[in-house]
Amino acid sequence: MTAIGFIGLGNMGAPMAANLVKAGHDVTGFDIAAGAVAALAAAGGRAADTAAEAVAAAEVVITMLPAGPQVRAVYLGHSGVLGRARKGALLIDCSTIDVETARSVAEAAAEAGFAMLDAPVSGGVIGAETAGLTFMVGGGVAAFARGQPVLAAMGRTIVHAGPAGNGQAAKICNNMILGASMIAVCEAFSLAERLGVAAQTLFDISAKSSGQCWALTSYCPVPGPVPASPANRDYVAGFTAAMMLKDLRLAQQAAGASNAATPLGAAAANLYQLFVDEGSGGLDFSGIYRFIRKPEVKN
Ligand code: NAD
Repeated sequence: MTAIGFIGLGNMGAPMAANLVKAGHDVTGFDIAAGAVAALAAAGGRAADTAAEAVAAAEVVITMLPAGPQVRAVYLGHSGVLGRARKGALLIDCSTIDVETARSVAEAAAEAGFAMLDAPVSGGVIGAETAGLTFMVGGGVAAFARGQPVLAAMGRTIVHAGPAGNGQAAKICNNMILGASMIAVCEAFSLAERLGVAAQTLFDISAKSSGQCWALTSYCPVPGPVPASPANRDYVAGFTAAMMLKDLRLAQQAAGASNAATPLGAAAANLYQLFVDEGSGGLDFSGIYRFIRKPEVKN
């Protein structure tokens, strides 16, 4: 059993913390939303009134926060984790944030005497609920070895991606592939419809051909071919378009900072921006099919 301080008990953090409790860990949680803290207590964890209280006795601190500014505030701010955590505690940030913030917070942690991992996840709320997440982990080898058993209570696949920030780097590269490939699949189905090829026919062919990809075969954006995909339930998210836009913007920020050419990533970010601007940010990201298919095909 490990004493764990968990900060950020939202859509992802709540089920992740609950899985740590189920695995027998002693979890003390804090969130600025009081209801989220009460839910953790109801699930068998302990409620803390402040972040400082959540981490005071923790051997491992886990954070699952919206974005870079909240991560900076929680770790570096007045009464932040770096000032209040117990000596020797391992710090793990599972939020998806920019590489630069991940690296600078890890550096500040090292200066304060803490080992830190960036461990963003893939798998969404369902992965969080079923302890089926994939963790992409940046940080030192010894810290990774220490963190692995704790992460294993929340996920199935845990990959060490290299030094601090590399977990975030791998995550945004993966999601740039996903955003661009989802749009490519949507465009292909839209074109096929105009050319008179049925969606199921294109699916049957491409699923077995060189166009095969996850966005097509596991998460088809067109209703019908993949019964479990959000397309069959009016694009209720899943993974929202707003979150995809956030990750594509992080990728563009990193591409700019590292002078990498990512024209398709840039186009994907622009298209998701337009989709979100028309008020669709809360829809599943595969709902961009509706946007790309416009104007509707006239029969
Ligand atoms: P969320 O908004 O549901 O949860 C974030 C929680 O952090 C909220 O409960 C909020 O009250 C809390 N919070 C914010 N500032 C705080 C502070 N200063 N101190 C304490 N608590 C604070 O978001 P989520 O969906 O759980 O996502 C969390 C992270 O995981 C994000 O970085 C997101 O990009 C990433 N992610 C989400 C998904 C998904 O499908 N939801 C998938 C992969 C990765």
